[in-house]
Amino acid sequence: MKITVIGGDERTVRLIDLLIKDKHKVKTFGFNKLDINTNESLRESIKESEVIIGPLPCSKDNICLNTPFNSEEITIEELFENIKKDQIFIAGYITEEILSRTNFYNISTVDLLAREELAILNAISTAEGGVQLAMEETDRTIHGSNIMILGFGRVGKLLAKMLKGLDANVFVEARNHADLAWIKSYGYQSVHLDQIEDYLPKMDLIFNTIPSLILGEEMLEMLRKESLIIDLASKPGGVDFEKAKQIGIKTIWALGLPGKVAPQTSAEIMKESIYNIVSELGV
Ligand code: NAP
Repeated sequence: MKITVIGGDERTVRLIDLLIKDKHKVKTFGFNKLDINTNESLRESIKESEVIIGPLPCSKDNICLNTPFNSEEITIEELFENIKKDQIFIAGYITEEILSRTNFYNISTVDLLAREELAILNAISTAEGGVQLAMEETDRTIHGSNIMILGFGRVGKLLAKMLKGLDANVFVEARNHADLAWIKSYGYQSVHLDQIEDYLPKMDLIFNTIPSLILGEEMLEMLRKESLIIDLASKPGGVDFEKAKQIGIKTIWALGLPGKVAPQTSAEIMKESIYNIVSELGV
C-alpha cells in the first residue's frame, strides 16, 4: 500500500517503523524535528497515497493537527484541501467539528479510537499502567489490599482480572444487574452503584473508570485519609479533585496511559486496526 502518515506522537513514530517493516511505501509529513520526515510539500507527500493516517488524537483544538514532532503548525483545513475523494483518512478522536469538515470535503474518514478492537486492546495497557501506578504510589502490597473498581467496562474488567491475579480483595461497582452477576461469577465482590458508600470506608485504593462524577464531596468524606484514588476515566473524570485535595485524599488522574506505558504495543494495535479498516473498505 501507499501510505502517508501526517503528524502524531511517539506511537505514530513507531507505527511508521512497523508499516515500513511490512513493506508499505510510506511517506511522512509533520515530523521535521525527527529524521523521518519525507522532504516534500504536504500536497506532494499525500498525492499518490491510498491511505492518509493522521494523529491520535487528531487535533487538540480542532484547528491544527496534533504534531508534537513538527516545528510548525499544520492546519486541518490545509490537509483536507489536499485529500482526494478516493483516499481514506484515518485518525484518532475525530470530533464532530473535524467530521463536519471531512464531510464538507467529501473525504472518507475513519476514527481509529471508535474501533472496538482497538479500545479493548488499549484497555490492557491502561489497566497495566493503573496497576503500575498503584504499586509506585502506595506503601502497601496489592496483595491483601481492599481495592474498589468503579465501572465494569473494558478497563474495569481487565483491571479486576489483574488485581485478582495479584491477590487483592477486589470489589467491583456496576449499575446494571447483568454486570453485577458477572462480577460475582468471576469471584469479585459485587457492589451496586447505590451501595458504594457502604464499602468506601474499607478501601485502600479506588480505581475509577466512569467518565462522570461519582466521587463527590459526600463520598470522598467517607474515605480514610490514607486511601488513594486513581482515576483512569477521560474528561470530566469521576472525582471532584478540588474537594479531594481539600479533604486530604490523594488522587491521581492518569490519562493517556497506553501511549505512556506501552508505546510499542500501542503502535502494533494501531497497525492491526488500520489493516482491519483497509480490508473492510476493500482498499
Ligand atoms: P466502557 O467500556 O464504556 O466502560 C465504562 C463504564 O462506566 C461502564 O461500566 C459503564 O456502565 C460505566 N458508566 C458510564 N457512565 C456511567 C454513569 N453515569 N454512572 C455509572 N456508571 C457509568 O469504557 P472503558 O473502555 O472501560 O474506558 C473507561 C474510561 O477510561 C473511559 O472514559 C475511557 O475514555 C478511559 N480510558 C482511559 C485511558 C487512560 O489512559 N487513562 C485509556 C483508555 C480509556 P454501563 O455499562 O452501565 O453504561
